[in-house]
Amino acid sequence: MKTNNSKKRSFASDNNAGVCPEAWAAMEAANAGHATGYGDDAWTERAADLFRDLFETDCEVFFVFNGTAANSLALSSMCQSYHSILCHEWAHVERDECGAPEFFSNGTKVLLLPGEEGKIQSAAIRMAVQRRTDIHYPKPRAVSLTQATEMGTVYTVEEIQTIATTARALGLTVHMDGARFANAVATLAVTPKEITWQAGVDVLCFGGTKNGIAVGEAVLFFNHELAREFDFRCKQAGQLASKMRYLSAPWVGMLEEGAWLRHAGHANQMATLLEQSLRAIIGVEILHPCQANAVFVQMPETLIEGLHERGWWFYTFIGSGGCRLMCSWDTETNDVLAFVKDVEELLG
Ligand SMILES: *Cc1c(COP(=O)(O)O)cnc(C)c1O
Repeated sequence: MKTNNSKKRSFASDNNAGVCPEAWAAMEAANAGHATGYGDDAWTERAADLFRDLFETDCEVFFVFNGTAANSLALSSMCQSYHSILCHEWAHVERDECGAPEFFSNGTKVLLLPGEEGKIQSAAIRMAVQRRTDIHYPKPRAVSLTQATEMGTVYTVEEIQTIATTARALGLTVHMDGARFANAVATLAVTPKEITWQAGVDVLCFGGTKNGIAVGEAVLFFNHELAREFDFRCKQAGQLASKMRYLSAPWVGMLEEGAWLRHAGHANQMATLLEQSLRAIIGVEILHPCQANAVFVQMPETLIEGLHERGWWFYTFIGSGGCRLMCSWDTETNDVLAFVKDVEELLG
């Protein structure tokens, strides 16, 4: 399985879906006439203000092209090169960013922590910090959490509070990789502030691409000190958009009427339907709790091949193994039912 050129909606990734109508309409509206470049325009100001409204705080907001840049640049602003970043062993920051966090921080080491269902815990953080305090060890300085996690699970408010409290006591700052932040908010039914700055998160990378935007993620600094000269960091890294309005306007479309949360909630619902339908089938095993828009399943090799032959796309190498079935803002109930029907038929 390499590329999907069939146009059929499938379950490979939420970034395989197109652009949602709200983001598209905002892009089109932003396309009227001229606007100043590099973020000095009304769309960028409006998008940043909408984030401040949504999070009910005066955070600093930056827009970059993708999640790897958002995470790497945010983390590099939190650490010196002799520091280290603690994250889960399956974290995107570690496994899927080609060493970008280390590169952009000039060598800050990423240290890996174990943890059930893609989540890290306070005890592992404490151990990583306290096992060595000598000058030969890369001094831990930041904790990175992924919300929702790479395993499709979600940290609760209390879990984030506990981790952040531990981190703070140990002199660490807290970064959140929120490539699927919207899905986590939809699951928890909380306000965004409850699982970010109120719980002790210093910097959030808020993902747009997997939520229905064409290109772009927002970096939100709740801790103003860490945002110092972040604009220069973005520019040097090639992440300052010249035509910034096209990165920021889609966020206006997403945030103004709550499309970000509606789409995420829908994707989660589709995943829940998929999980419940597959759970009932003998021969298919659910691997992780389904708490966001991903379903991880173990299936026989012949079934996987049969599904691929019928044009269903999904990955089999993500996380700890098994098949990852990802729902998107545009997944329809009929997609789920057709997939489940094919699974049943192929299992005979
Ligand atoms: C997709 C994703 C990102 C962003 O990846 P890019 O391809 O660089 O945009 C970051 N973190 C997680 C957990 C992701 O799934």
